[in-house]
Amino acid sequence: MSDTRHDWTSQEILDIYNKPLMELLYEAATVHRLHHDPNTVQVSTLLSIKTGGCPEDCGYCPQAARYHTDLEGNDLMSVQQVKAQALRAKSSGSSRVCMGAAWRNVKDGPEFENVLEMVRTINKLDMEVCCTLGMLTENQAQRLAEAGLYAYNHNLDTSEEYYKEVISTRGFEDRLQTIDNVRKTNVTVCSGGIIGMGEETKDRAGMLVALTKLNPQPESVPINALVAVEGTPLEEQKPVSIWDMIRMVATTRIVMPRTQVRLSAGRTDMSREGQAMCFFAGANSIFAGDKLLTTPNPDVSEDMEMFKMLGLNPQQPFVKKSQPETVEAEDSVFQAKGEKPKWSRPGHKIERNELAKEKGKDVVLDK
Ligand code: SF4
Repeated sequence: MSDTRHDWTSQEILDIYNKPLMELLYEAATVHRLHHDPNTVQVSTLLSIKTGGCPEDCGYCPQAARYHTDLEGNDLMSVQQVKAQALRAKSSGSSRVCMGAAWRNVKDGPEFENVLEMVRTINKLDMEVCCTLGMLTENQAQRLAEAGLYAYNHNLDTSEEYYKEVISTRGFEDRLQTIDNVRKTNVTVCSGGIIGMGEETKDRAGMLVALTKLNPQPESVPINALVAVEGTPLEEQKPVSIWDMIRMVATTRIVMPRTQVRLSAGRTDMSREGQAMCFFAGANSIFAGDKLLTTPNPDVSEDMEMFKMLGLNPQQPFVKKSQPETVEAEDSVFQAKGEKPKWSRPGHKIERNELAKEKGKDVVLDK
């Protein structure tokens, strides 16, 4: 029941997902207890270090430049700003900081050098540092590892089949390539997805098949419920039912027993009872702070109240893997190579993405 397998079939995963709920919860909670402390949940803080203006067309994302949303973009934050936010996060119980930049891929140059300095700074605060910066070359992954990066996030989002209905500017295999580049270093992999984008249950299973095939499996798997933002192609999607979220968390826990399963976007629409069931089903991390990159999130004091009520303790940093060392910029053994990750540029048309882009133009023209 608790072995890590890489050969799960979609049907096997669907059979788990569709079990009677009480049986599913019992099985997931049993697996969870074999590998994790059920009373400990990691609190992570997600920081948008560069917001908006992204050239990609992810149908769920308000940061894509082509869609017309109310998002206010900003340039890359300074190292000092990031340090101040990380200190604040630490004092309110976070043991991990995830920095997100709305980039298609990392480009060598002053901005990346700044990000490396942010990684060094946060690692020296004894917090786990994660980055999500888009596609990455092997050399860039090595440089991040050398700076002290603990984890790199690169979500598969959904199944390979449904991916084509959500994003046209890159392919599913491009995601796998970046994950592979991260795996060549000692940085851990964080990769998960979003439910509620109009996918079928088999796509949820398909995403889990792809994640479990990775060897080793990702150390961290965020499960997000879509937050439908006005102006994005998925603006009209109905909110995900809490039962779907619980089933997804439980199934993820069973097929990835050692992974940190992260209850991510969409928590503002979940009751405390619903979240408690997700923790019981194997979720062992939440994101704290009133914003999750750009979408609303519960306030950290509300989360701490919930922890108290449920008897949960925030997880200390580096419980699952030891703290990486930080090599200073002047001692680095790696040089920037100025390479760009190669990606497949599928470029097929997704009707709802095209419509959302056109709508944006109309609004601009009306002004
Ligand atoms: S999800 Fe990331 S890559 Fe996609 S549009 Fe948003 S910021 Fe860009």
